[in-house]
Amino acid sequence: MTQRGKVYLVGAGPGDPKLITVKGLECLRRADVVIYDRLANPTLLEHVREDAERIYCGKLPDNHTMRQEAINALLAEKALEGKTVVRLKGGDPCVFGRAGEEAEHLAQRGVPFEIVPGVTAGIAAPAYAGIPVTHREHGSSFAVVTGHLSGGKSGEDAEKWRALARGVDTVAFYMGIANLPLICARLLEHGRRPDTPVAVIARGTLPEQATVTGTLATIEETVQRHPGISNPAIILVGDVVQLREKIKWFEE
Ligand code: SAH
Repeated sequence: MTQRGKVYLVGAGPGDPKLITVKGLECLRRADVVIYDRLANPTLLEHVREDAERIYCGKLPDNHTMRQEAINALLAEKALEGKTVVRLKGGDPCVFGRAGEEAEHLAQRGVPFEIVPGVTAGIAAPAYAGIPVTHREHGSSFAVVTGHLSGGKSGEDAEKWRALARGVDTVAFYMGIANLPLICARLLEHGRRPDTPVAVIARGTLPEQATVTGTLATIEETVQRHPGISNPAIILVGDVVQLREKIKWFEE
């Protein structure tokens, strides 16, 4: 009987290499092939066997990236050779990590796979900045949103902005730094208070973590004054941000 391989879609955690799960680490140690991207902490590769194959598929200096179809095909191909394949992704593989597309591709081809969840940046970076994304008194709902949500020209997006502005206490925007002015403008336009607290947390959970806070009315200008606040960063909007003053710990 030919040996059957398997693909593990593994969350590497948000930055601090100790935030990978025990199961994720076990997968890394067993892997024959590791396919990793830019946001997975490279020090995690120290756990990979010497003789294992390592394939980088994040952004290269020439801005070229391996296309998603090529990655999908590679995952299936290596597993069908009988190998244990780890697809290592920053944060949680299912939160803006395309694990869904990869899993669909594998399922279609009958390639066995498992999803190993990870700690996502939208929760972990705030936690390291002293901000719990929910709190009994300050936030009972939490949304995870891409910063690429459009300017609201399509009716569907306008509907989403309205809901985020009025119906959700805490909102974490991923990939949003370039769109910060648009994000603030849309939330204000749809009725969020201008004095709503906002934090922007860059390189969360890493020693270089940096955080600035302000309000929907002021945060854009504050970020402009702090060039260190750049990608990767989480924009967190909501009253829970105030708690940072009392419980910030990591940057102390
Ligand atoms: N799957 C990842 C998200 C990938 S999308 C997760 O679950 O965390 C990439 C975005 O994630 C970045 O643009 C940034 O918004 C966020 N991000 C990833 N790592 C981060 C970090 N260490 N600190 C702050 N934001 C981070």
